[in-house]
Amino acid sequence: MFAAPLGPERVPVDAPGGPELSDTLEEFTRASSIGEIARLAREVILDPAYPTVRAASRAGHRAVGCFPVYTPQELVHALGLLPISLHGGGESVEISHADAALGSFLCSISKSTLELALTARLAPFRAFVFPYICDVSRNLEGIFSRVLPRIPTHMLHLPQNFRSSGAIPFLTAEYQRLIAKLERLGGERYRPERLTASIELFNRQRERIAELMAIKQATPGKVSLLESYLVRRLGGLLPRELHVPILERVLAELSERTDQRKDAIPVLLVGPFCEQPTLDLIELIEKVGCYIVDDEFLQLQRWYRGIDGKDDPLAALAEAYVRTPVDIGVRATPTTKGEAILQRAKAAGAQGVIFLTAKFCEPALEDVVLYRKALDRHGIPYLHLEFEERSTSYEQTRLQLETFVESILFE
Ligand code: SF4
Repeated sequence: MFAAPLGPERVPVDAPGGPELSDTLEEFTRASSIGEIARLAREVILDPAYPTVRAASRAGHRAVGCFPVYTPQELVHALGLLPISLHGGGESVEISHADAALGSFLCSISKSTLELALTARLAPFRAFVFPYICDVSRNLEGIFSRVLPRIPTHMLHLPQNFRSSGAIPFLTAEYQRLIAKLERLGGERYRPERLTASIELFNRQRERIAELMAIKQATPGKVSLLESYLVRRLGGLLPRELHVPILERVLAELSERTDQRKDAIPVLLVGPFCEQPTLDLIELIEKVGCYIVDDEFLQLQRWYRGIDGKDDPLAALAEAYVRTPVDIGVRATPTTKGEAILQRAKAAGAQGVIFLTAKFCEPALEDVVLYRKALDRHGIPYLHLEFEERSTSYEQTRLQLETFVESILFE
């Protein structure tokens, strides 16, 4: 993976840029319409120097960056820390340093995340957690510990065999390892009652997000994929205490909106569970005549619903991860991938599937092969598109999407 040795002495430091938010992030408390919330979300996402984290740090929060796809952020929250979802540098970051350390045939998120570290844009973070989802995330944790030696990193091991009786005890022990590290770096002492309260807060966030997704599925003309995505993406960038009321305002506004449905086909979107496509690409998918009735964005916020964390919250958190069926490229539950895609398409009422996979993302690409076989057997149409974080031209993609939609509409 390394093309050149790295060390702290080689780290260049650029000043972070972008808009400054108020220390209390009151902009988000004041934003009362979906339009305002989406505009703020767009600004925040396009600023790779994490303006919400800069602001929250000034107010005394200690942020922990969590690489996709799964970190028990409730646990980070329960230790008095601010869990923040890392999603790479997106379309705003020019890769000028990370290329020297990472090979060419790697996904963009690995390079842009390293670029953020090498250009001081991650300076407000106090720690980073990298779940072991693939070889790239595993190596990134090692690289981070070398280029940012003063900021602790943690590799979170997640069980792979969900049938094993050892899966939950193993994960509980892993969570204890994470607790010990976060306590050492200044987190508060672990107290089960604090975790119970954090689980309840995150339950509320997940319930509201599930309601938003249900509205999108039942009445897809009420809320666009881009609006839904922007509102959800804020959930990993703000204190959850601020995000839950935002979701409630969004749901209240949607209850008043009419479903302005056009002649478009309902589609399941599979693949972007880790690296994120550009906002333009997300918008384009629905512009060409699709309604995305279910997707794999920001799966962490939808992993499970309603954990009962009253008795043994740590074990409950581990059990929820292990027991909830989630089939994405970096995880398989005890079923086959083929069955999983068919069930998901049926549950969403999708007439087709779009695979939107990050270039060089092996876990996503391997699954596409299995998914395609099952869809072929059942005559369900699909389209496979690849994306990179810094794509700018979508003419070819638009053409492919239009052809896909027309082939279903006029078959
Ligand atoms: S985009 Fe794919 S290959 Fe890259 S870190 Fe994420 S899961 Fe791993």
